[in-house]
Amino acid sequence: MHQRSAHRSLLVIGSVALDDIDGPFGFHKDLLGGSASFIARAASYFTKNVSIVAVIGDDFPQKHVDELTELGVDTRGIERQKGETFHWVGRYAPDLATRETLDTKLGVFGSFAPKLGAHQKDAQLVLLGNIDPALQLDVLRQVHAPTLVAADTMNLWINIKRADLEAMIAKIHTIMLNDEEARLLAEEHNLRRAAAKILKMGPTSVIIKRGDAGALLFHGGGVFAAPAMPLTDVKDPTGAGDSFAGGLMGYLAYAGDLSPKTIRTAMIMGSVMGSFAVEQFSVDGLRNLTATKIQHRFDELVELVQFDQVRL
Ligand code: AMP
Repeated sequence: MHQRSAHRSLLVIGSVALDDIDGPFGFHKDLLGGSASFIARAASYFTKNVSIVAVIGDDFPQKHVDELTELGVDTRGIERQKGETFHWVGRYAPDLATRETLDTKLGVFGSFAPKLGAHQKDAQLVLLGNIDPALQLDVLRQVHAPTLVAADTMNLWINIKRADLEAMIAKIHTIMLNDEEARLLAEEHNLRRAAAKILKMGPTSVIIKRGDAGALLFHGGGVFAAPAMPLTDVKDPTGAGDSFAGGLMGYLAYAGDLSPKTIRTAMIMGSVMGSFAVEQFSVDGLRNLTATKIQHRFDELVELVQFDQVRL
């Protein structure tokens, strides 16, 4: 393997949560969830230079934090406060494609004021996982000179915090959202037009995640499509988007450059990590992966979209 530059540092801010999930495979209570939990775990396969900023309550099992630390993730920025951990309750339809939020209990997240450690302020890559855009802005104000800032969001924030969300989007490079959220944000049904409208809000690229239809990257120069792996067993789509983001940003940290070619590969790596996440509940699909397993699925995706150029 050729020599690579040192891995860039990746700072992740997001929720660390306990989830209750209902769906065709039954009701599961108090699962480890949260955007940062999926992102950090997915990214940890590519770089040992990941650090988290998040908050947990006194009910949060320490073993989940210890596991992340064992994976090489810097968990010193996970603050434990008095009160309950952020708790999300969701229900999936039998097709596993649509979900509704039944309850969101902010708990300690309600009064969270993220404070970056000195070592985190110099992060080169920053991933603002899905949380209140006002908190995402707070973090942005504290980082010194990141080379790439990407953010994820969700319909809740588009509906109740649009001003903060638009202020945040204007300050970052890459915004990631799913197709329904892109339509909601842009007030435009056609995805290509929606992406063009979102690009006008300030970011240099927009990634639209489309579940089992893959993901699209829109940037000034055009559009790139990453396929989703057609899977035999899908149990729990929770965290697919976050694992996609973690795989993508983790790979960028590993590759050490931000060339268009590397970004395309990172999109595929995102798809690979999202596909592992949905095969099991919580973060279980991201456990015990190896470079060989990740490589194998990457190769399967390459194979899936391989076709010849024709000249008519
Ligand atoms: P995803 O399936 O990638 O959209 O991510 C699902 C995760 O996001 C779950 O584990 C939830 O705990 C977390 N989540 C859901 N709603 C929120 C919210 N309003 N703020 C922060 N995290 C959330």
